[in-house]
Amino acid sequence: MAPSVLIIGGGMSGLSAGIFSRMSGFDTKILEMHSIPGGLCTAWNRKGYTFDLCIHWLTSSRPGSAMYRLYEEVGLIQGLELVTPEYWKKVKEEQGNELTMYYELDKLKSELLRLSREDSTFISGFCNDIKKIRKMQVPVDLTLLDKIKFIPIISVLKKYQVDNLSVVSQVQNPVLRKLLSAGLDWEGQSVFFTLMGFALQGAGNAGYPIGGSLPLAKSMEKRFLELGGSIQYKSKVESITTDNNRATGVRLSDGTLLSADCVISCADGHSTIFDWLRGEYCDDTIKGYYKNLKPFPPIIFVSLGLNRSLADIPKNLTVIFNNPVMIGGTEQKTITFRNHSNDPTLYPEGKGIITTWLPVNYEWWDQLDYQGELYKVEKEKALQQVINLLLNEFPDLSGTIEVTDVATPMTFVRYTGNWKGSYEGWLVTPGSFFFELPLKLPGLTRFYMAGQWTTTGGGIPGSIKSGRSAVKSMCKELNQPFKGKN
Ligand SMILES: Cc1cc2nc3c(=O)[nH]c(=O)nc-3n(C[C@H](O)[C@H](O)[C@H](O)COP(=O)(O)OP(=O)(O)OC[C@H]3O[C@@H](n4cnc5c(N)ncnc54)[C@H](O)[C@@H]3O)c2cc1C
Repeated sequence: MAPSVLIIGGGMSGLSAGIFSRMSGFDTKILEMHSIPGGLCTAWNRKGYTFDLCIHWLTSSRPGSAMYRLYEEVGLIQGLELVTPEYWKKVKEEQGNELTMYYELDKLKSELLRLSREDSTFISGFCNDIKKIRKMQVPVDLTLLDKIKFIPIISVLKKYQVDNLSVVSQVQNPVLRKLLSAGLDWEGQSVFFTLMGFALQGAGNAGYPIGGSLPLAKSMEKRFLELGGSIQYKSKVESITTDNNRATGVRLSDGTLLSADCVISCADGHSTIFDWLRGEYCDDTIKGYYKNLKPFPPIIFVSLGLNRSLADIPKNLTVIFNNPVMIGGTEQKTITFRNHSNDPTLYPEGKGIITTWLPVNYEWWDQLDYQGELYKVEKEKALQQVINLLLNEFPDLSGTIEVTDVATPMTFVRYTGNWKGSYEGWLVTPGSFFFELPLKLPGLTRFYMAGQWTTTGGGIPGSIKSGRSAVKSMCKELNQPFKGKN
């Protein structure tokens, strides 16, 4: 009889683990607390508008790489229409100066020089560095060849492994410094990580899939089911059972006990280690990661459905405030409006969608009684502030907003269980560059972890890779051949 596996979580990592587990001959069941697959890779429908949470770019979307072949194996990429717009975003300060971050490097260079001739040396170096990063490939199993290919990029990595302020400190022109600083800022991460996304998009290797996030998850769910796996929705795991330091199954929140030969947790890392396993399989190193690594912040995510075409509105606009604004209990220095007009599958003809997210303080939202009066008031207040800021920028949109939606950090916890509402796991900071956490816990056999909490930087590629790695690790422990193609 085939060994049985229970996978906790039907997000991108859980679906990947499920697919490779089935391919390797395990009797596999995914337990998912929500009623749909995808976890954070999701979208929701409100009165004909599809508000897409996740996908901005899918790294390694160009055929020819090991990561692309992995996407093919899990059924993610086949048939997708991937698009890359003309520019990543426009950054504007309230005085009116504006920078367009074009993907095309000659255009980007001219744009930067338009703002500051005196920074021509910095600008040439910056554009040349982006050109070098464009050659990067996201490795699947880090091979010697991958390491050799990375050598020309090491000097660029070292240069940009710092925060945005350090990079722009070399810029002399104050306007360019301010605009570029906001353009490169992504939750205080290492600029290399931000530039990687920008550069790969410019290289046509990180496209946006038309249809958005949810179809990606549904394609993988389809592949998993076709391989003979099963998914049990609305099944919330409360603890992982062990016997003699071996994982034996899970207990669900309704008290049901499910047993299996192996368990893979593809859900929140903190809950897995400290709640479901009661912190019994955790050493100082792991405790150190959870104490010292910085998670992506929780966010409020505001979605607006507008009764008007948005073809004339910038795709992505970051506005730098003269004075910080308090929204959602947190001081905001900028706001970025994302116009989804490049994906007409998301909204009715002649209409449009704008979304924005703002990092906020988790404790501030946590202390409001979830769904209570105060919570609702704060949600509404944040929504109105975002709308006012949008109308301030685009007065023509006045009277066209017909559908609104606000997700708070508590919404993220409720639907995905991620620690402190984090939206993507661990940040890539200058000190935690592409860092991988162990997929096995000390002292516990037949148990593996995968997902965005097992590597810094989060994201769909990392989650899919880690699901595959967890199954490889399981095959090794059970002395079973791993049956992935690559
Ligand atoms: C706003 C935003 C923008 C993003 N943009 C991009 C992008 O452009 N490109 C990109 O690659 N990535 C992007 N990401 C990140 C990407 O969505 C995630 O890193 C990835 O989807 C994480 O997958 P996962 O399986 O590791 O975790 P999750 O998606 O968190 O999946 C975990 C699953 O476990 C389930 N679960 C949790 N607790 C339990 C329990 N007790 N019992 C049963 N099930 C449970 C959850 O419901 C969930 O389905 C973005 C994310 C957000 C929020």
